[in-house]
Amino acid sequence: MKPTTKFQKLIVNVDTTLEPISKEQSDYFYKECLFHKAVALKSGKTTCLDCSHSWNITSTIGWNSESKKGCCPNCGTKITIEHTRKKRYFDFSYGQIIQTHKGFQVIRAFTVNGSYNAGKKPYLSIREVSRIYLSADGKFEIIGNYNQWSFSSEAWVGEFSLKDRSTINRGHNMLAHKVYPKIKVLKELKRNGFKGGFHNKSVLTLFKALLTNSYVETLFKAKQYSFLKSIYLDGGGDIDSSKIEKRWDSIKICMRNNYKVKDTSLWFDYLDFLEFFGKDLRNPKYVCPTDLKMMHDFYLHEKREFPEKERVRKLKEKRKQSILVCADMNYSIIDTDLWFKYLDMLDYIGKDITDPKYICPSDLITEFENSVIIYNRLKVEENQRQYEMDKGKFFDLQILSNDYLITVLKSIDEFIEESTELAHCIYESEYFKRVDSLILSAKYKGVRVETIEIDLNQFEIQQCRGFDNLPSDHNMNVINIITNNLPLIREIQFNEMDKVA
Ligand SMILES: [Zn+2]
Repeated sequence: MKPTTKFQKLIVNVDTTLEPISKEQSDYFYKECLFHKAVALKSGKTTCLDCSHSWNITSTIGWNSESKKGCCPNCGTKITIEHTRKKRYFDFSYGQIIQTHKGFQVIRAFTVNGSYNAGKKPYLSIREVSRIYLSADGKFEIIGNYNQWSFSSEAWVGEFSLKDRSTINRGHNMLAHKVYPKIKVLKELKRNGFKGGFHNKSVLTLFKALLTNSYVETLFKAKQYSFLKSIYLDGGGDIDSSKIEKRWDSIKICMRNNYKVKDTSLWFDYLDFLEFFGKDLRNPKYVCPTDLKMMHDFYLHEKREFPEKERVRKLKEKRKQSILVCADMNYSIIDTDLWFKYLDMLDYIGKDITDPKYICPSDLITEFENSVIIYNRLKVEENQRQYEMDKGKFFDLQILSNDYLITVLKSIDEFIEESTELAHCIYESEYFKRVDSLILSAKYKGVRVETIEIDLNQFEIQQCRGFDNLPSDHNMNVINIITNNLPLIREIQFNEMDKVA
């Protein structure tokens, strides 16, 4: 892209004098970004992939023992010793340099590659892929390659030049990662509270927020770093702090009471509940709960029950009218228990329970049975709607590994199928109603083998069972696959996939 604005022309000009990466910096990245391994053969012959020196392990480390940590006797590098015949390895990572240049904050990203072949000198390379120039008033431009990113791969393509800011993605705006420790920042950042920590944010997002957003500056000075989690850089490169702004009065109460919110997404949800139930959002009694999770879950439950409670409250009033209507019609209620249950179902189905057409049936038992069928169908639909609201974000998740396909159960019908085929009780016990658990089904070569429950608070496997609640032959494989994918599930749960962070 050709520079058009005055600012872009300035940046392109300033960029011509930025010095290339130094030897000290690249050595740091080779050391910190890449793995350091030695491979040990069954005979005990061990080769360091970094310096290709070989020596013999005659110690008690057996062929089958797990990877051991050690030091290469030649180059002194801390290494992981792997027992394998494998010779070729490849490693890839990122390094960042944070510096200033001619009055600008510069955030530089490098790809670091290592190609190893036991017994030979490794081939190491570093390539600069992105430079972000940020001014003290929060304006920025990117010079670099295009970042092509998908779930499985990442590539840096095209010429190294000025890029349209709207093409910024998580490649350019990556989380602070393997940052070269000699950091230099603008004095304005120090003044606004930057002390060297990145708090799990991307460097650009954090710096831009600190330079342009007074809410962030205040939070930083009060060390309320967890709120930074809800700050994003939107597609146009602007800071989105709308969540914080909306709850600023309550956040101020937290700061005043020295109350540290650890899980901000839970706290924001909790505040929505408080608002729904008309609680005072400036009262520390509500805003600063001792046990946030417990209070959150309490209101979550209350809110779920709310429509049903409202319906039952109104139903009780309407029933009095129903009885009057029956008296008017000279309709004698023989089985009152059954009639009240029938009334309850009619109301749930949406029929007018003051209309004699419905409430004075000549054959109560038949009408009761008919309404049970409709009632049950509506209940399933209601459960399905709630389940989609709770777990819909996981429906696209597909874990494929060798001949295994693991997916999230997507409907109440699928719960019934899974329960029936594997002869267990996830449907009967209404696992689809469990807010904190995610139910997955593992198939091997298309055949259902295991059902998995994941705890969405701890991100742990709660249960993994096959037919008749017993572990199948695939149990360990399924557990391993799921364990490897728990971070992905966590990411989906916290909705971070579609955010630029
Ligand atoms: Zn070595």
